[in-house]
Amino acid sequence: MTVHEPKFARGMFVNGEYVNAASGKTLPVENPKNGEVFAVVAEGDAADIEAAVTVAERAFEKWGRTTGAERADIMERAAQIMRRRLGEFVTLEVDQIGRARREMAAQLARAPEWLSYFGAVARTHEDTVIPFGTTHLNYTRRVPLGAVGHLTPWNHPVLILMKKVAPSLAAGNTMVVKPSEIAPITPMMLGECLKEAGLPDGVYNVVPGYGPTAGLALTAHPRIRKIDLTGGTETGRVVVATAAKNLVRASAELGGKASVIVFPDTEIDRAVAATMFAGFVAAGQTCVQGARLVVHRSIHDQVIEKLVKRTGAIRLGDPQDPDTQLGPLASKKQRDITERYVQIGKDEGATVAVGGRRPDGKAFERGYYYLPTVFTGVKNEMRIAQEEIFGPVICVIPFDTEEEAIALGNGTQFGLGASVWTKDVARAHRVTHALQCGIVWINDHHRIDPASPWGGFKMSGIGRENGLIAYEEYTQLQSVIVSLTDGVFDWYSDEGGTKRYS
Ligand code: NDP
Repeated sequence: MTVHEPKFARGMFVNGEYVNAASGKTLPVENPKNGEVFAVVAEGDAADIEAAVTVAERAFEKWGRTTGAERADIMERAAQIMRRRLGEFVTLEVDQIGRARREMAAQLARAPEWLSYFGAVARTHEDTVIPFGTTHLNYTRRVPLGAVGHLTPWNHPVLILMKKVAPSLAAGNTMVVKPSEIAPITPMMLGECLKEAGLPDGVYNVVPGYGPTAGLALTAHPRIRKIDLTGGTETGRVVVATAAKNLVRASAELGGKASVIVFPDTEIDRAVAATMFAGFVAAGQTCVQGARLVVHRSIHDQVIEKLVKRTGAIRLGDPQDPDTQLGPLASKKQRDITERYVQIGKDEGATVAVGGRRPDGKAFERGYYYLPTVFTGVKNEMRIAQEEIFGPVICVIPFDTEEEAIALGNGTQFGLGASVWTKDVARAHRVTHALQCGIVWINDHHRIDPASPWGGFKMSGIGRENGLIAYEEYTQLQSVIVSLTDGVFDWYSDEGGTKRYS
């Protein structure tokens, strides 16, 4: 890491303004394309988390009593403000994580949709009337939880945050966000947009810091009502276990190792384009990365031939250049992990068909670049096929029968996403229904919408983002039972015998 005079400094966003950490410490934000520190932000710890939770609890007293329509108005205005500031968001996200500008611009242009969708849910949400009987009226109310904690990763700093903040705000909660230390700036910019839209101070707070200090303090805080993490599976175990000690609700969107399952009736060009998008978008740093190409043996060689050729032609470069297709990995740590796994793959006997090293050239010397890589000759039990690498590495595994394809699709500890490629409608659904994954795309990969539930089976997580289910997961249910009779119910004066539970 090279420390130059940072371009700018930010505090932490608490109670509607930027403030310094209680300790006065700062943390550096590095640009992965050249290893230079381009910004510093406040480094929060347990004392700052305590202060932010207190602010959020206080803000809840009013925000928790607003109407859905009031919240929707603010959220829609915030969506418009984000659209106006899109260029700034894109530039900073690219500087923080090195993802190519063309991808970041495409992704962030959609982020405001989450505010609009969940604002609409808040505005139109209806509670239910329960068929209790004729003597009583029973209705339920979805009420907010209180101050909630959000722990977010670095790979999609704003989009993943938005998947949490939008339903949380819509439901009437207040919040403390602990973003990844790698990408803390844009989550605070979201606070600026919300404030400009009229969100009361203290409803949305961001405390940058490290996982084992600020993150742990938030997770272990006895007065938060829910902790919501997106991160690695190991972090998920720690966070859920810590929250359980306080009986705090926890949801966890965790790791994955998605399979792209290609049946032989798929055109070769389509299969190759699908594999490249699923495997290399965001330099492979997505939880639903198509890290495993499970392809029918009859088309394996044709697919590999084209895949190798086209992968070798992907344009690496400065991620701010709109022509660049693949930027650096987000950090030195992420490139080290990728390099280590490529070595493991070679040691396990798999073949590097393309990539498998850093790119040559002066332009790439200082950044954390790595060539997109395809391994052939991979066996399902190999570590490269089983463990999350989170880099631009695809493992190709051939299959012969539909049963084998399903077994391979289910053949890891993860169960987040998968895609099935075939023109045979019956087969597409049959295979999909047999897959133990929370999200399955048919003839597509990594499509997402604020209305479409998102979350994993098995070791990929607990809970769901997006859609009405996400709104509900940010509420608690109150059941109200009203007697419709004016008569006195006097158990001790009658003769009993009426059936009742209590
Ligand atoms: P991490 O699990 O390392 O971190 C996630 C967040 O949790 C960060 O803010 C981190 O802080 C914080 N954290 C780390 N340790 C603790 C702890 N002990 N207590 C409380 N908080 C902690 O994930 P990454 O940021 O490296 O993100 C990559 C992972 O996220 C991958 O495994 C990926 O699959 C998963 N992911 C899942 C998605 C899904 O939808 N299921 C989507 C995107 C990513 P810090 O890092 O700042 O120290």
